[in-house]
Amino acid sequence: MAEESVLRPAVTDQDKALISWSLPQKIFDVARAMSLWPMTFGLACCAIEMMAVGMARFDISRFGAEVFRPSPRQSDLMIVAGTVSNKMAPALVRLYEQMPAPKYVMALGNCAIAGGPFVFKDQYGIVEGVDKLVPVDVYVPGCPPRPEGLLEGLFQIQEKMTGRRWWPEAPIEPGPGEAGK
Ligand code: SF4
Repeated sequence: MAEESVLRPAVTDQDKALISWSLPQKIFDVARAMSLWPMTFGLACCAIEMMAVGMARFDISRFGAEVFRPSPRQSDLMIVAGTVSNKMAPALVRLYEQMPAPKYVMALGNCAIAGGPFVFKDQYGIVEGVDKLVPVDVYVPGCPPRPEGLLEGLFQIQEKMTGRRWWPEAPIEPGPGEAGK
């Protein structure tokens, strides 16, 4: 009877099944990561930066996410851009629940992360972080964050989906009239 090799462990049927399943799954994950459809959820000033990301200068379409959808049923990434009021909270949760899984959430700006400058003693109108309502996958800090910050958040979600980093860090370029500052 031949001795079993200690250098090369046998591939079991279970391993074969896993390998044959995981490769198509990986291809599928990359395809999904490179074609995310964000849902517009602009609630305050941070939404201006989100709009800038869709325009020619920052051009989020280079990374497959230019199809901003107004409907949760056609979206797999919720970008919460701005201040979440208590009154808006039930609508936000409802929209999140209407998104098909797998789905992702980006908290864009200090308001979405923790309530921003509106948090003070006895405040009663603001949700102090969207993660109190729905699970958040990536936090992009700033008041507001630059569009490059949103792109970095997108890259991190793509990394989370596929298990690898696809893009270098987005360089922060001076805006019009900012050169030399
Ligand atoms: Fe406005 Fe700052 Fe809040 Fe963004 S984080 S919505 S810029 S106050």
